[in-house]
Amino acid sequence: MEFKKCDRCGCFFISEDNVCCNCKPKDRADTIKLHNFIEENGSAYSIEEISASTGITIKNLSRFGEIQNINGITEKREFKFNTNIEL
Ligand SMILES: [Zn+2]
Repeated sequence: MEFKKCDRCGCFFISEDNVCCNCKPKDRADTIKLHNFIEENGSAYSIEEISASTGITIKNLSRFGEIQNINGITEKREFKFNTNIEL
Protein backbone atom coordinates (compact mmCIF):
# COMPACT_ATOMS: atom_id res chain seq x y z
CA MET A 1 0.00 0.00 0.00
CA GLU A 2 1.24 3.44 -0.83
CA PHE A 3 0.04 6.97 -0.86
CA LYS A 4 -1.29 7.83 -4.30
CA LYS A 5 -2.86 10.65 -6.20
CA CYS A 6 -6.13 9.79 -7.89
CA ASP A 7 -5.85 9.75 -11.68
CA ARG A 8 -9.37 11.12 -12.04
CA CYS A 9 -9.93 13.76 -9.37
CA GLY A 10 -6.42 14.32 -8.04
CA CYS A 11 -7.18 13.64 -4.39
CA PHE A 12 -4.75 11.63 -2.29
CA PHE A 13 -5.67 8.19 -1.08
CA ILE A 14 -4.18 4.89 0.01
CA SER A 15 -4.95 1.92 -2.16
CA GLU A 16 -3.59 -0.49 -4.72
CA ASP A 17 -5.71 1.19 -7.36
CA ASN A 18 -4.94 4.19 -9.50
CA VAL A 19 -8.13 6.01 -8.58
CA CYS A 20 -9.76 6.80 -5.23
CA CYS A 21 -12.83 4.97 -3.97
CA ASN A 22 -15.10 7.84 -5.11
CA CYS A 23 -13.84 7.60 -8.65
CA LYS A 24 -13.64 3.83 -8.91
CA PRO A 25 -17.33 3.39 -9.83
CA LYS A 26 -17.01 6.14 -12.43
CA ASP A 27 -13.93 4.55 -13.88
CA ARG A 28 -15.72 1.24 -13.97
CA ALA A 29 -18.77 2.72 -15.70
CA ASP A 30 -16.55 4.40 -18.28
CA THR A 31 -14.63 1.21 -18.85
CA ILE A 32 -17.84 -0.71 -19.46
CA LYS A 33 -19.00 2.02 -21.82
CA LEU A 34 -15.74 1.78 -23.72
CA HIS A 35 -15.99 -2.00 -23.92
CA ASN A 36 -19.53 -1.76 -25.24
CA PHE A 37 -18.53 0.84 -27.78
CA ILE A 38 -15.67 -1.29 -29.12
CA GLU A 39 -17.82 -4.39 -29.14
CA GLU A 40 -20.53 -2.65 -31.14
CA ASN A 41 -18.41 -0.49 -33.39
CA GLY A 42 -15.00 -2.09 -33.49
CA SER A 43 -11.86 -0.26 -32.55
CA ALA A 44 -11.17 1.55 -35.80
CA TYR A 45 -11.85 4.95 -34.27
CA SER A 46 -9.66 7.72 -33.03
CA ILE A 47 -9.63 8.61 -29.35
CA GLU A 48 -11.45 11.82 -30.24
CA GLU A 49 -14.24 9.94 -31.98
CA ILE A 50 -14.64 7.47 -29.15
CA SER A 51 -14.64 10.30 -26.65
CA ALA A 52 -17.37 12.12 -28.58
CA SER A 53 -19.49 8.97 -28.85
CA THR A 54 -19.11 7.66 -25.33
CA GLY A 55 -18.72 10.88 -23.37
CA ILE A 56 -15.55 9.53 -21.79
CA THR A 57 -12.88 12.18 -21.62
CA ILE A 58 -9.80 11.78 -23.79
CA LYS A 59 -7.70 11.87 -20.65
CA ASN A 60 -9.57 8.92 -19.19
CA LEU A 61 -9.55 6.99 -22.44
CA SER A 62 -5.80 7.40 -22.55
CA ARG A 63 -5.53 6.05 -19.03
CA PHE A 64 -7.68 3.02 -19.69
CA GLY A 65 -5.69 1.76 -22.59
CA GLU A 66 -2.58 3.87 -22.45
CA ILE A 67 -3.67 4.45 -25.95
CA GLN A 68 -1.07 5.28 -28.50
CA ASN A 69 -3.04 3.81 -31.31
CA ILE A 70 -6.63 3.00 -30.53
CA ASN A 71 -6.76 0.47 -33.33
CA GLY A 72 -4.42 -1.74 -31.36
CA ILE A 73 -6.41 -1.65 -28.15
CA THR A 74 -8.42 -4.81 -28.37
CA GLU A 75 -5.53 -6.96 -29.48
CA LYS A 76 -2.87 -5.43 -27.34
CA ARG A 77 -4.27 -5.08 -23.89
CA GLU A 78 -6.99 -5.85 -21.47
CA PHE A 79 -8.49 -2.86 -19.79
CA LYS A 80 -7.69 -2.29 -16.20
CA PHE A 81 -11.03 -3.35 -14.75
CA ASN A 82 -11.79 -6.00 -17.29
CA THR A 83 -11.62 -8.87 -14.86
CA ASN A 84 -13.68 -7.09 -12.23
CA ILE A 85 -16.74 -6.41 -14.32
CA GLU A 86 -19.79 -8.08 -12.89
CA LEU A 87 -22.92 -7.05 -14.67
ZN1 LIG B 1 -10.78 10.35 -7.29
